[in-house]
Amino acid sequence: MKTPFITKEQAEEIISKYPTPFHIYDEKGIRENARKLYKAFSWNKGFREYFAVKATPNPFILKILQEEGCGVDCSSLTELMMSECCGFSGSDIMFSSNVTPKEDMLKAKELGAYINLDDFTHIEFLDKLCGLPETVCCRFNPGGHFEIETQIMDNPGEAKYGFTREQLFEGFKILKAKGVKHFGIHAFLASNTVSNAYYPKLARILFELAVELREKTGADISFINLSGGVGIAYEPDKPQNDILAIGEGVHRAFDEILAPAGMGDVAIFTELGRYMLAPYGHLVTKCVHQKHIYKEYIGVDACACNLMRPAMYGSYHHITVLGKENAACDHKYDVTGGLCENNDKFAIDRMLPEIDNGDILVIHDTGAHGFSMGYNYNGKLRSAELLLKEDGSVQMIRRAETPADYFRTFDFCDIMDKYLK
Ligand SMILES: *Cc1c(COP(=O)(O)O)cnc(C)c1O
Repeated sequence: MKTPFITKEQAEEIISKYPTPFHIYDEKGIRENARKLYKAFSWNKGFREYFAVKATPNPFILKILQEEGCGVDCSSLTELMMSECCGFSGSDIMFSSNVTPKEDMLKAKELGAYINLDDFTHIEFLDKLCGLPETVCCRFNPGGHFEIETQIMDNPGEAKYGFTREQLFEGFKILKAKGVKHFGIHAFLASNTVSNAYYPKLARILFELAVELREKTGADISFINLSGGVGIAYEPDKPQNDILAIGEGVHRAFDEILAPAGMGDVAIFTELGRYMLAPYGHLVTKCVHQKHIYKEYIGVDACACNLMRPAMYGSYHHITVLGKENAACDHKYDVTGGLCENNDKFAIDRMLPEIDNGDILVIHDTGAHGFSMGYNYNGKLRSAELLLKEDGSVQMIRRAETPADYFRTFDFCDIMDKYLK
C-alpha cells in the first residue's frame, strides 16, 4: 500500500492557491527519516550524511536536512553555490564530481569542501590548478560486476567513474608524497538497491581496501564514504529497505575489519539522495482529457518535463486518484502528459479506478530525481515546488516558471521583449 501524505480536501485547498501540476514535499517525513538514518549509524562517532544535492536541489530542502545534521554532496558549480548560500562550508561539503571543470574545482577548494577525485589524472589537475588540500578523497571502481549472493546488482566495469585498484594505490603514494595528510575513500557500485545487504557488502570491500591502503602506503584514512545507492521500492507491494538493519550490517563489518586493524576511529559517510527524499515527494496533477482509441488514455496536466523517470527508464511510479482510494481498480489506462513524444507516459496499462476530468492524481515517490531532472522540451514550463510543513501549512519553496523565465536567455536582444516583462 502507498498512501498519499495529503488528502483530497487538502489537495483541493492547495490547488485553489497553487494550480497543478506541482511537486509537494512532506517535511515531517523527511525529518523522521533523517533521524532514523542517524540512529542507524549512531555507533560510528564521525558518521555524517552528505545529502546528494542533485536529487532535490532546493535551498529550503537543504535547510531542513542541515537542521537534521546533514552535510551536502555537490557535483557542480551551481550546487556548490546553492550550498554556500545555505550556510554549508568546509567539512559540511563533499564534492563528488566527474569530468570536473576548472571553475567547479576552484569553487570547491575555495569553500574548503572535501574533494573526492574521480580520476588518477585529477591529482595533477587539482595540484596544478590550486594546490592540494590537506585531505583528499579518491573514488574507487573495482571493475567487473557487483554481486550480492550471486545476484548481479550492477556493472561497475562498464561505469565511467573512479580509479582502478592499481591507480588508487599509486595515487595515494603520490598524494602522500605531495603532502596530503588525511585520506578518504569512496565508491558507488549499485544504484537504487532494495536490499539490506548492499551497504554492508560495499562496506566490507572498502574496509578491506582501507586496511591494505594504510599498510602499503602509510596513508591516514579518516573517512570512508559509502555514497548513495540505497534505494526505495517504488512498487506498492514490495518490501522497503530497513535502514536500522543496514546500519547494523555496516557496524558488523566495521567491528570485524576496521576495529581489529586499529582503525576504529574512521568516520563513515553516506551521500544518499533517493533514500532521503524520494518517498516524501508527490507530483500532483489533474486529469484534463480522456481519449478512447485503441487504448484508453488519461491526459494529465503534468508531463515528462516534470518527472522524467518513467520516460527515461520505464520506471514505475505508483498513482493514487484522490478521493477514490478505496474504489475498485477496474479500468486499464495509459496516463500521459502532453509532450510530442510517445514515451511521455506516467503509467502504461495501469489498473486504476474510473477517472473523470478534474480528478486529482498523486504520483508517488517523486521527491528525489523528480523535479531536478526536469527540462523545457515543447516549451513546457517547470512547476512550483511546495512544502507541507509539520504544522500542516503549505509553503511555496519554488515558484512555477513563467514564459518570461523560458525566454530569459534571449534578453541580450529585443525580439522576445513583448514576453520578457
Ligand atoms: C547520484 C549520486 C548520489 C546519490 O545517489 P542516490 O541513488 O540518489 O542515493 C550520491 N553520490 C554520487 C557521487 C552520485 O552521483
